[in-house]
Amino acid sequence: MSDRDGKIWMDGQMVDWRDAKIHVLSHTLHYGCGAFEGVRAYKTEQGTAIFRLQDHTDRLFNSAKILRMAIPFTKDQVNEAQRAVVRENNLESGYIRPLTWIGDKKLGVSPKGNTIHLMVAAWTWGAYLGEEGMKRGIRVKTSSYTRHHVNITMTQAKAVSNYTNSILANMEVTDEGYDEALLLDTSGFVSEGAGENIFVVKDGVIYTPDLSAGALNGITRNTVFHIAKDLGLEIVQKRITRDEIYIADEAFFTGTAAEVTPIRELDRIQLGAGSRGPVTEKIQTAFFDIVNGRNPKYAHWLTLV
Ligand code: PMP
Repeated sequence: MSDRDGKIWMDGQMVDWRDAKIHVLSHTLHYGCGAFEGVRAYKTEQGTAIFRLQDHTDRLFNSAKILRMAIPFTKDQVNEAQRAVVRENNLESGYIRPLTWIGDKKLGVSPKGNTIHLMVAAWTWGAYLGEEGMKRGIRVKTSSYTRHHVNITMTQAKAVSNYTNSILANMEVTDEGYDEALLLDTSGFVSEGAGENIFVVKDGVIYTPDLSAGALNGITRNTVFHIAKDLGLEIVQKRITRDEIYIADEAFFTGTAAEVTPIRELDRIQLGAGSRGPVTEKIQTAFFDIVNGRNPKYAHWLTLV
């Protein structure tokens, strides 16, 4: 991924893609304290636009705050950096990755006295869980790994180190031929996917775990709350058990990368009719209308690059 043309924004400068490097003694590489965002830009009739840019930047700063890292740039600068990388790389649509890390001034667990850095890259990235999965639904398995306890790592930070848990769960289930992992919290209740929030539909009502299950406060999750309200559908945040999903009518994952992805099977148990359900399809359609600028009510969520 490093050997290609393009530009990456690094600490305030636009640098050549191949030259966007850091030292092997960077603190974050050794101890995993860093934070990132995943943001998408979509092609709209008005031009390429970043979806919920300010919300992603706000979450990045909140993640850094939780990790006691002071980002040495303003939110406006970070917003501008994201617009600039999309423009500089001539992307009509794509995925944007801002990441803040601790520098290479010194090692040792304490990062005090070290420098804080920020980079923003952007590239083309299609459907994260596959085009076919978007239509047919994906096959999910409950991981044997537990999602982080809310007082072990900080689950409201999109922290680099939180993703070792996601990687383990994802590798475990994809090695067995599944598409994605579902993780349970330390009490055994449903938390989230390796990189997605989860929703289930039962008798016309939509349910999603509340954030005390250690799930990230997803921006797509919040977008679905708005969509459901517009569609007159009720959303309930509550503790959910894995067997509630087995007997649900529908289930779907949400995330910036995963967008709205139907789930057709959990632990080899078919959910509902075993395909994308009607409520999921309605939400998916409404989601793509919003991100592609076809719903004027949410025009304020789109920032032209
Ligand atoms: N949970 C995890 C663990 C994630 O990595 C993501 C992706 N950022 C999400 C949930 C969904 O969050 P969002 O909709 O803001 O992308």
